[in-house]
Amino acid sequence: MAEQRDDALLLRSIAYSDSSLILHCLTQKHGRISLMARGARRAKSPFRAALMPLYTLQLRWKEPRTGSMGTLLEVQRFSPLLPESMILAGQTLLANASALFPDGVAHGYDELQQACGLLSARPEEAGLCVATWSMLERSGWIGGFNHCWHCVETIDLNLNMYWRQGHLLCEKCANQHGFQLHPGFRKSISTLMQNPNIKLNHEHITLWKMMIKDVFKTHQMRHSER
Ligand SMILES: [Zn+2]
Repeated sequence: MAEQRDDALLLRSIAYSDSSLILHCLTQKHGRISLMARGARRAKSPFRAALMPLYTLQLRWKEPRTGSMGTLLEVQRFSPLLPESMILAGQTLLANASALFPDGVAHGYDELQQACGLLSARPEEAGLCVATWSMLERSGWIGGFNHCWHCVETIDLNLNMYWRQGHLLCEKCANQHGFQLHPGFRKSISTLMQNPNIKLNHEHITLWKMMIKDVFKTHQMRHSER
């Protein structure tokens, strides 16, 4: 069977049998893949020390004869994606990436790497919002801050917009339903996406976190209705 080699980010690893791990990875050229890392939980396994989340990894693996799970042959660990103080926020980012880029998708590697860069340049709480928002935007779950996600009309940053069920709406589309977003909020968030030195006040962070939760919830509901 063919061997493959690619840069990868480890999303999660699950214990399998006495000594092995099943890995879920986002790779640069092969999308999301699952691999069996045989013996990876043994003390002397060369995989053990190298298989770390939030690091750039290079993997070599054997493609499966049947099914979708390859077998890990070699792993090399390179630079960390985040400073050590941000590991906890990084774990949340990995969980979000795992939901956004499920099995079978061709992308996610670049998106997660960029998100880690955005997070590491900002204070943790605001950074996590910026990083998650950028992955949501790039995966097409949400639109931009400058237009209505329903009628697609561009809305000046000095005007009010409305938030309803995971969607950003103009005044007309919202039709007096939904949570009113003041212009200041959209302005500071759009600026923070570009410029890490903008300070976001606590109220805005709380509101933004609620909106992100809302987007995930709305998407999960739609998913389970299928
Ligand atoms: Zn509209």
